[in-house]
Amino acid sequence: MKERKKHCEVCSKDFSTMFRVQYKNPKKWVFVCKDCLLTVKKDNPAYSYGGTWKK
Ligand SMILES: [Zn+2]
Repeated sequence: MKERKKHCEVCSKDFSTMFRVQYKNPKKWVFVCKDCLLTVKKDNPAYSYGGTWKK
């Protein structure tokens, strides 16, 4: 059985809780961890939040 894992788009680490966001252009949905979320959302007009994903 395959286990689907999500890795943070920014730091490439695996987390049990990820946040679905868009943060750059062209816009696409990516998953980031909490720390990187705070980094990418700061002063970012391209940022939008799409929900929380938990294992
Ligand atoms: Zn991260």
